[in-house]
Order: sequence, then structure tokens, then C-alpha cells
Amino acid sequence: MPMSATSAPPAAPAGETESVPFRQFLLKIHSRCNLACTYCYMYEAADQSWRQRPRSMAPAIVRGAARSIAEHAREHGLAEVHVVLHGGEPLLVGAERLEELLGTVTEVLAGSATPRFTMQTNGIRLAEDPRLLPVLDRYGVRIGVSLDGTPADHDRHRRRPDGRGSHEATARALELLNDPAHRHLYAGLLCVIDTAADPLETYEALLRFAPPRLDLLLPHATWQAPPPGLAARTSPPAAPPPPGAQAGPAPYAAWLRTVFDRWYGAPRRETGVRLFEEIMALLLGGGARSESVGLTPVDLVVVETDGAIEQADSLKVSYPGAPGTGLHVSRNSFAEAAAHPAFRARQRGFAGLGPVCRSCVRSHVCGGGLYAHRYAPAGDLFSAPSVYCDDLAVLVDHIGARLRQDVAELTAPRRKVAL
Ligand code: SF4
Repeated sequence: MPMSATSAPPAAPAGETESVPFRQFLLKIHSRCNLACTYCYMYEAADQSWRQRPRSMAPAIVRGAARSIAEHAREHGLAEVHVVLHGGEPLLVGAERLEELLGTVTEVLAGSATPRFTMQTNGIRLAEDPRLLPVLDRYGVRIGVSLDGTPADHDRHRRRPDGRGSHEATARALELLNDPAHRHLYAGLLCVIDTAADPLETYEALLRFAPPRLDLLLPHATWQAPPPGLAARTSPPAAPPPPGAQAGPAPYAAWLRTVFDRWYGAPRRETGVRLFEEIMALLLGGGARSESVGLTPVDLVVVETDGAIEQADSLKVSYPGAPGTGLHVSRNSFAEAAAHPAFRARQRGFAGLGPVCRSCVRSHVCGGGLYAHRYAPAGDLFSAPSVYCDDLAVLVDHIGARLRQDVAELTAPRRKVAL
């Protein structure tokens, strides 16, 4: 049971593996946003492809994407598929288009697979348009809302185009979602980490909205565009950080460690925190569902508003056109997408890591971090360790030490009995 982050790294699997079927289909139903967040990878990153795309997904593209999803589900015997409504801001499509879109996907998938709908939104339109929640409820759409902590911290980044903050409107949406009539639709909160914000104040500000789950995200960054506050991180390390030791400053690990200790040490479970739960599961020999840590093959594919089949949005932070595949729902199947070299490169698990990560004792837990965060233009593009390597190493070691301590305490009485 690989509980220790300092055990030997697993051996590389021999040869190539079969392509992994997609289970998550992210539909970009609206390509524009009603906010102008300072860190947005969609509009502020290297890839500017949104400028050439239609504002919203046309009905014919929705139907074509749904047919392709149904075909893929039948080919792979998938009883259910996850359909993620995304943007930009997906709720800008409005209640009527949303109803039509959800109806089309449900109708086309009937008899092939059950769609599980989710949505990521800034929540503002939920607070402004009372027609939206009933539509989302009819199709069981689970809603994740982006919130960055206290009003001041949230409004520092998540601003409207005229510079006004958005916390108040997002808070109103969260009050609606916490109403017993809608609570079953509330999936959780997504918070982008800002190390200038106090970690405990941030965590407690998020808890005030009783989220079923928290996603704490590292800001998208690469070795070419380093994380906020770490301008010197421009060259990937030649070796992994030594076990139990820190190679350099790790402010994101310090922030996350503080939240982990508060969350893990709480007398009752206050919420789920995906990053911590996944690291713990990986340390205990399980798997991870997200791409942020671990070596699980990617099973998410994106359909842009114009029908282009692409990889995850986070790659927009690397270079123009990075998420592109040249495939389109009107011409290509998702089987062709799954066989595309760009997706295959992200389905190779340990074998897909670069040499530094392969020699790292934490590789089976850290997994080299998010694929986009490995981008280093001077090397083999995505084979460097994550630009958050130091932070991930410290966090994995910290959580591993805490788990080992608890397991030792739990097993100590049994040893006494045995004696
Ligand atoms: S990114 Fe993760 S797996 Fe790679 S060297 Fe750093 S800590 Fe190890």
C-alpha cells in the first residue's frame, strides 16, 4: 500500500496502452463572460482563439456534439456520461437557449447513456434571472460556483468590466442555492488561490456558504509565465526535491498546508476539499478523478462554441492554439479524438512524465501536477516538472506525514494487545 510519499516510484508500464474513452464532455455553450477576472486563462492567457469563435453554441453544433457523445457512449458501453456546461459564462445563453440545449442533449442521448449535467458559473445570472434555476432543476444540473473567499479578496480579482466587484451578486446566488428548494443542485465552490489572501480567512469565508465541496485551484502558470509572486521560477529543476525537504520557496504549499491542517483537524467534517481528498486517496493507494494530481489518464474532451474538439482549457496558458486538435464534431468522432496524439500523450500515466518526475519518489501521488503547468518552451514542451513542483512536493510530504502519524496512532493499541 503506497502510503508513504517517500517509497520508491512505480515502474513504467511497458509499451503503449489502448486509448481511454472520454467520460466527461465539456461543452463551451457561451464564449464570452460578464466578468473580467484578472487571472482568467480564457481571455488573458497566450491563446486568444476566443476572439474568432461565435459567442454561443448554435443548435446544430449542440445536436452534433450530442450525437457524437451518444455514439461514443454506445461504442464503449458507458451507462452514463458527464456533460459539463462551461464558458466564458454559460448562463449568458439565457433561460430559453439553456432549456433548448439541455432538452436536445437529453433527447439525443436517450437510449444510449444517461447524461449527468454539471455547470461552472460565476453565479451572477442566477441572482439576476429567476427563470434560470427552474430550468437547471428540470434537468438536474449540478452547479459549481466560483468564489475567491472574503468580499475584498474576491473583488480584487473577480471584477465586472467597469471595475466593480462581483462578490455581492455571487453571494446572492449562493443564498438561492442554499435554499432547501435548490440545495440539491449545489455542487460546491471553486476558489483560485491568492497567497496574498489569508488562508484561514479565505477558508472560513467559503465555509459561510456551506459548500458540499471545495476546489482550491493553483493559478494557471507555466515556466514561461510563472505563478503570481514567483517571477524567478523560470527554469525547471534538474532533479526532484529531496524527500522530506524543500528545494526552494513554496508559498502555495504554505497556504494550502494551513488550510489542510484546519480542515483535517476540524472536529466534524465541514466540507470536502477535492485536492486534499485526492492526495490522501493517492497516498493510500487509490486513484484521483481530477487531473491536478495523480496519473489518471485524461478522460475529458472539450467542444468549443464553433464545434471544434479541443483539449482542456488550462492549456491556453501555454501557447496559442495549444488545446487545438484540428478535429470538429461535424467531421470527426470522439473515437478519433481519443486516438489523437495530443490526448494519447495525456493518457500514458507514469510513462508520460518527463525524466525528473519519473525519478521522483512522489510521482505516483503528485503525477507531475496539472499537465498545463509543466509547459517549458525551451524543453520538450510538457515533460518538465510542474512549475508548482516545490509546492506540490511540500504539500504531498505534509499530508503524507499527517496520515502516517494518524495510522501509527490507530495501530498502536492493536500492537499492545498483540504483545
Ligand atoms: S512535479 Fe511532482 S512528481 Fe514531478 S518532480 Fe515535482 S514533486 Fe516530483
